[in-house]
Amino acid sequence: MAQSCGGNARLSGRVAIITGGASGIGAETTRLFAREGATVVMADRDSKRGEALVSRVRSDGGECVFVEADLTQENDCKRATQTAIELFGKIDILVNNAGGFVKALLHETSTEDMEYLTGINLYSAVWMCKYTLPYMLMRRKGVICTTASKTGLVAQRDSPLYCATKAAVIRLMQAIALDHAEEGIRANAICPGIIETPMLENSIQLSPDPEEFRRWNELAQPLGRLGTPLECAYATLFLCSDESSFITGVALPVDGGFTAMSLKH
Ligand code: NAD
Repeated sequence: MAQSCGGNARLSGRVAIITGGASGIGAETTRLFAREGATVVMADRDSKRGEALVSRVRSDGGECVFVEADLTQENDCKRATQTAIELFGKIDILVNNAGGFVKALLHETSTEDMEYLTGINLYSAVWMCKYTLPYMLMRRKGVICTTASKTGLVAQRDSPLYCATKAAVIRLMQAIALDHAEEGIRANAICPGIIETPMLENSIQLSPDPEEFRRWNELAQPLGRLGTPLECAYATLFLCSDESSFITGVALPVDGGFTAMSLKH
């Protein structure tokens, strides 16, 4: 149940696992959660950036540990969960944020890219939920939030498998929300639009005219600009805090109005 925050940090006393926290949206979410009082276990394959972020969070007064993990691998997902339990004894929040993007038509997508996309965008969330849920069910308490994408709500061109994996994780969250509502567990997704992160910068730089492509993307958003990682982090914070205690099974667009415009036509 929602309780007045009374000026306290919104995640005080909570233990949160955040995947893909070394960069972009996950890094802002890690920093924000730590500022809001959570103890964060951050899992990522990028140990250099991961360790650097942990140092930054700690020097800001937050609590964060890093687990180096390839989250396309079931055993690494299990290990990330076990680390949280061994160190802190519980998991209040799971943020499935790690993800990857491949631009390719379906018949031109290599088998390696198919395995990578389904592995990181879908199976990492499946395995993280699989290994975290038992601990949440034991306490009849827990919140899961997955970083999906607006492409899970409305399709975009040139990346069919990416769209499919993002639609799948939205439905995964909704199904978990239904299965475990009576056991005190909530599950939601955020659906970012076009957000300024290294992942986006890669796509921009791969385009024939990067500046033109950036401008085109900005103008395609009703709010007329790209989103920021912090704007996504705040949406995840809301869905993981008690302030959203009556919200479960939703896919929240954080997209500057893009899907509202798409659904109108
Ligand atoms: P990013 O590339 O900045 O960060 C992704 C993080 O995931 C990195 O730290 C990377 O090391 C980690 N990661 C990738 N593969 C991994 C693996 N196998 N094991 C462990 N860690 C791995 O990207 P971002 O833009 O911040 O993306 C975060 C999430 O937001 C993703 O799920 C992405 O699909 C989603 N998203 C991003 C945008 C956007 O415009 N940037 C839009 C919609 C959805």
